[in-house]
Amino acid sequence: MAGEPQTDCLFCKIVSGDIPATFVRESETTVAFRDINPQAPTHILVIPRVHYPDAASLAAAEPQIAADVLREAGQVAADEKIEANGYRVVFNTGAGAGQTVFHAHAHVLGGRGLNWPPG
Ligand code: C5P
Repeated sequence: MAGEPQTDCLFCKIVSGDIPATFVRESETTVAFRDINPQAPTHILVIPRVHYPDAASLAAAEPQIAADVLREAGQVAADEKIEANGYRVVFNTGAGAGQTVFHAHAHVLGGRGLNWPPG
């Protein structure tokens, strides 16, 4: 069923605690944890507890949870004190854009200058 945990999904396993992660925030519908391979001094992933393969499919099926992900991304930025100098929220969508884990997730990146356009 849509949104159900997938046995072969790394992030479903992080949500369930079967794979460890360094959690920084949790809500009823989301969890946030430090990226294992950080690309900036602050690099945190905010993910829904439910499984959807990308942000667009999450937003289509569960718009409130998609909004929760964005709210939590903002809270992470506040907690990490990266708001003042700016930060970036990124949803890589599709392998061609660099998505490697097909469970919707927001990257929250900050703590250094961020170039535009991204690579
Ligand atoms: O956007 P993309 O799908 O490539 O992002 C997946 C992210 O998940 C990567 O930045 C990767 O470092 C991170 N990751 C993690 N912990 C794992 C496996 C992957 O933080 N156990």
